[in-house]
Amino acid sequence: MAYERALYFAVENEYEEIRRHNEADLEARRSAVYEAVPEIREIDDEIHSAGLSIVNLAVQSPKDMNQRLAALRDHQKSLQIRRKTLLLENGFDADELSMRYMCERCKDTGVSDHKPCECYRRRLIMKAFEKSNLSQQLRNQSFKTFDYSLYSQEIDPQFGVSPYNAIHNIVTVCKQFVADFDRTDKNLLFWGESGLGKTFLSTCIAKELIKEGYSVIYETTYQIVSRLEDYKFKRGDDMESLKTQAQRLYESDLLILDDLGAEFSTAYTNAALFDILNSRLIANKKTIINTNLSMKELADRYSERVISRIMGSYQILQFIGEDLRLKTSVNAFGENK
Ligand SMILES: [Zn+2]
Repeated sequence: MAYERALYFAVENEYEEIRRHNEADLEARRSAVYEAVPEIREIDDEIHSAGLSIVNLAVQSPKDMNQRLAALRDHQKSLQIRRKTLLLENGFDADELSMRYMCERCKDTGVSDHKPCECYRRRLIMKAFEKSNLSQQLRNQSFKTFDYSLYSQEIDPQFGVSPYNAIHNIVTVCKQFVADFDRTDKNLLFWGESGLGKTFLSTCIAKELIKEGYSVIYETTYQIVSRLEDYKFKRGDDMESLKTQAQRLYESDLLILDDLGAEFSTAYTNAALFDILNSRLIANKKTIINTNLSMKELADRYSERVISRIMGSYQILQFIGEDLRLKTSVNAFGENK
């Protein structure tokens, strides 16, 4: 899988920025050292001119070249030892005048052994996290940190199953969704009260897929609708960016549409939502919908077309239990409301 091109450009720019910073950082340290110990500047000048002599010798290649090269190298070496001693004597680090890198392996080029460095891959993933609008949640939410103990093991008489078992089944479906992402034509609809982990699990799925190189966007339905309205009705300088954002709703590998039903519903917004959902289905782009509304409430709110589309191509997963945010001192599930 390959990320959007814009991500690669953004990462390349980051490396350029880092290298500029490294240069400026070294320059600042050098100035401070020269000011404190002027002799070191003289030594550096001498090392530099010895270097030039070595190059000249190599170009001219006189008869006694090897002897003179060896002498110059010895001279350089002793200068370097003197320089190091002076640095340490004056309270500096031995490598005070060396370039310092964020990544020693690739020296902040992003390439090591003719391959993208590990740090490059990490930066790319971080950029993809940012693009998904989930960077905050993605830092600490994952299948590994999912806390089943928050769900009651008592059987809920209404559903004949405990919230604990229900969520176990849902997590299994979520993991399978990730594993089969390229092969399945399945979409997911998470349905249940607020605070039962719908957004959390959507984030877990997003995280796994982004790490594998898929593009993921998370938006509340409210945000999507206002974005589309802006694009349709607003006129101004930011049209290009609005257009790009609107396009990404159609083109991302996974769209997480959070809080369906919380947006202000009009004929226009309904049509716009249907268009996104439908276009994604046709293009076999996966979508996860989160909603607090039941199928009946959804049917009352949206057109018949939207609902039959959803019923036909989404696996509907019901979240049951009590609002978990009331059980935890912190808002562990980061739901929208
Ligand atoms: Zn690196």
